[in-house]
Amino acid sequence: MPEGDVVFRTAARLRAALVGKDLTRSDFRVPRYATVDLVGQRVDSVGSYGKHLFIRTLDVTIHTHLRMDGEWRIFHCGQRWTKPRVSARLVLATDEVEAVGFSLGTVEVLRGADEHTAIDHLGPDLLGPGWDAAEAVRRLSAAPDRAIGLALLDQRNLAGIGNIYRSEVCYLRRVHPATPVGVVPDLPALVDEAHRVLTAAAHQPPWRPLVYRRTHRPCQRCGTALLARLLEPTGADADRIDQRERGIYFCPRCQPAPSA
Ligand SMILES: [Zn+2]
Repeated sequence: MPEGDVVFRTAARLRAALVGKDLTRSDFRVPRYATVDLVGQRVDSVGSYGKHLFIRTLDVTIHTHLRMDGEWRIFHCGQRWTKPRVSARLVLATDEVEAVGFSLGTVEVLRGADEHTAIDHLGPDLLGPGWDAAEAVRRLSAAPDRAIGLALLDQRNLAGIGNIYRSEVCYLRRVHPATPVGVVPDLPALVDEAHRVLTAAAHQPPWRPLVYRRTHRPCQRCGTALLARLLEPTGADADRIDQRERGIYFCPRCQPAPSA
């Protein structure tokens, strides 16, 4: 699943391709917006918040989310698309390029003034100019019994982390992902680590995972074979978290399991 760093870099690519350009074609391949036509509108800005992406004209904001498999690709006009046409959800064309959103999980057109409704429920954006570490700590701390590995996925606590970086952050802080938030040693330092890791991944790709999908490989600190486990969500988390997001990766020696 694409995480905040991917969305951040996607926004940068779309910004370079579209901002200041007039749209010569728009094609919304979602029923609700099939009749929307943005031809002639100039793209004003492109931004991201957590995993949410916003393409703005003077009149409207196009809000999209990649969910599990979404991806934006940019083609020169006339260039053959490198993904199946049937998976395209949105096409925005200028004189020079076609920006195509494939398999997007969310596509909606909002009035500019209503853009905030897409993100009002989210915690601070790890990659945003207004990143607020103290607020993220406050939100995480509100549910002290929840496993830190699940709390980091909840975008209402802090926005931008997914399955890769929750494992990486817990490893770097030597915290077992099943540790309840309330007993994580130095939670502010873990939040700072999350900010550092995601910022590095957004600006200096590619991030080379230390533990994610490195099962049975040696820990780079102590040589112990890394493990993968399913961190089973409970309560409301069980409905919210996709099955494919449940794998956690850790070093059993550097990150001892919390005592029950
Ligand atoms: Zn280790």
